[in-house]
Amino acid sequence: MNFSSKLLEEAVAEVARLPGIGEKTALRMVLFLLNRPEQEVERFAGALLKLKKEVNFCSECGNISDAPLCSICTAPKRDRSLICVVEDSRDVMAIENTRQYKGLYHVLGGLISPMDGIGPSDLHIGKLLERAGKGEAKEIILALSATMEGDTTVFYLYKKLKDIPVLLSSIARGIAFGGEIEYADEVTLGRSIQTRVPYKGEA
Ligand SMILES: [Zn+2]
Repeated sequence: MNFSSKLLEEAVAEVARLPGIGEKTALRMVLFLLNRPEQEVERFAGALLKLKKEVNFCSECGNISDAPLCSICTAPKRDRSLICVVEDSRDVMAIENTRQYKGLYHVLGGLISPMDGIGPSDLHIGKLLERAGKGEAKEIILALSATMEGDTTVFYLYKKLKDIPVLLSSIARGIAFGGEIEYADEVTLGRSIQTRVPYKGEA
C-alpha cells in the first residue's frame, strides 16, 4: 500500500498487528479514528494503556481481575470441588456465558507450543499443581482447544496430575466442537461441559 503520510503508515502498521486485522481494515479503522474528536481518541488510547498498566491477574486462578483475587474465586456460591482449566480469559467468559458451570477456573495464559517457543514454564501450571495438591478440588476439567497445542498441553497436564488423587476429565470435543473454544456456540459449549468424560492418557 502506498501511503501519503509516514504517520498514517505507522498507525496502520500498529493496528494491522492485531489478530485478524489486515492492512485494509487497519486503514479503515485509523481513518475513522482520525476523523473523531481528539478527546475521543485520547479516551480510546487511554483505556488500553490503563488496562495494560493496571490490570491484575487473580493470584489463585490467573483470570484477568481488578482485585488480587477475582470475583469467581471469591464468590461463596461457586463449587470449589471443580476446577476448569482453560487457555485464557476469553474461555472463562465463553463458559460463564453458558451458565452451565458453577465451579472454579484455572487460566493457563496460553498453550504449550514448541513451534512458538512456549514451554510449560511459560504457563501458569505450577499454581495449578499447587491447587490440585491441596485436596479441595475433586475434579479437574481440561477445557482446551482441540488443536495440536491443546492436545500437547492436555497430555502434559495429565502426566503432571496423574499421581494426585483428583478426577481428570476432558470436555467433549466432537465434530461440532473443533477448534478454539471461544467460538463454540453457547449451547454446544454448555453441553460439552455437562457431558465431559474422564480423561484417559495414553498408556
Ligand atoms: Zn480467580
